[in-house]
Amino acid sequence: MKKAYYGNYGGQFLPESAMFALNELENAFLKFSKQKEFKAELKKLLKTYVGRPTPLYFAKNLSRIYGHEIYLKREDLNHTGAHKINNALSQALLAKKMGKKKIIAETGAGQHGLATATAAALLGLECEIYMGATDVQRQALNVYKMQLLGAKVNAIESGLKTLKEATTAAIQAWVNDIEKLFYVVGSVVGPYPYPMMVAHFQSVIGKECKAQLKKLGKKPNYILAAVGGGSNAAGIFEPFIKDKEVKLIGIEAAGLGLSTPYHAATLSKGRTGIIHGMKTKVLQDDLGNILPVHSISAGLDYPGIGPLHAHLFESKRANYEAISDDECMRALKLLCKEEGIIPAIESSHALAFLEKLCPKLKKKSVIVVNLSGRGDKDMQTIREYKKGTIYG
Ligand SMILES: *Cc1c(COP(=O)(O)O)cnc(C)c1O
Repeated sequence: MKKAYYGNYGGQFLPESAMFALNELENAFLKFSKQKEFKAELKKLLKTYVGRPTPLYFAKNLSRIYGHEIYLKREDLNHTGAHKINNALSQALLAKKMGKKKIIAETGAGQHGLATATAAALLGLECEIYMGATDVQRQALNVYKMQLLGAKVNAIESGLKTLKEATTAAIQAWVNDIEKLFYVVGSVVGPYPYPMMVAHFQSVIGKECKAQLKKLGKKPNYILAAVGGGSNAAGIFEPFIKDKEVKLIGIEAAGLGLSTPYHAATLSKGRTGIIHGMKTKVLQDDLGNILPVHSISAGLDYPGIGPLHAHLFESKRANYEAISDDECMRALKLLCKEEGIIPAIESSHALAFLEKLCPKLKKKSVIVVNLSGRGDKDMQTIREYKKGTIYG
């Protein structure tokens, strides 16, 4: 396997002018991620600031309902409410070690922007966030939070004015000032080394989970995670990829249904193409134009996917399924009522797959769902949700 690739996917599809920075980043990552002091500093911050390790919670009521042993990996309990802070804080610390004074990031709903602005405030870095103008309007509260944390938020007016355009703008800003800036990418996407680096920083989820299961004397049969760009899934899958008997399932957003144009199911419906500096599966038309995507969850609303997942899909090491807006909202409400946990809409896609998976299993199984985030940010969407509405 070529180092920048997972099987046929990955690479560095950026202009020549970016290669220096990608090499610099690769070298810094390889150096610091093995260095004792860096690892100790990061570990301490993850513990005392983020709140790790997150609990592995045995969901007794869900288990009774579905007839299997169901555990939730509680990433919703992290500072800022989701797994994104694991990666944002790790990259921001790396930026600081590299002597960078300013970090930039793209954001869709604002969760990665919020995590990056938080890490910047903590570490004393200047921070600028790129966000589609439509998202700036829809997510006014997150914009205000980022500004309160000291970040500058740029509203991007091109195209559909959402995550895809924000990412393109962030890449452009980075390439224009590449020696000064550190670009904090928010998922396992982008040119190498980003997919590998983000998967590494998020693998703390899977490593903890594996140790927690072992302590309980349990072996997982299934691990479920929602997939947007794929970082929370990559994080929990990573230490289990070698354990061939553990079945890994990524859940994409089927929106209004896979037979409509209103979904974001990249692996179910996409074809190989280039997006944001990587070769991967992309939702595109016959001319290679990237298609608009739809999901009720802003965090899954992305027409590409990390190259690791394209490879796990093609090699059949992991399976990918799709859950509609409506199935997801039912699962969200069930978790609220039965377990007293309000999950993020993204995470509820993974929860919703229990309803499809559990009745099919002949043997009593141990199933882990990565609860990637909490639902506080989604209250308005949940309250106003009506079946069949086109969001995004
Ligand atoms: C952003 C987000 C996701 C999707 O991103 P991945 O990179 O696929 O993990 C999932 N859940 C939550 C709560 C998010 O904020």
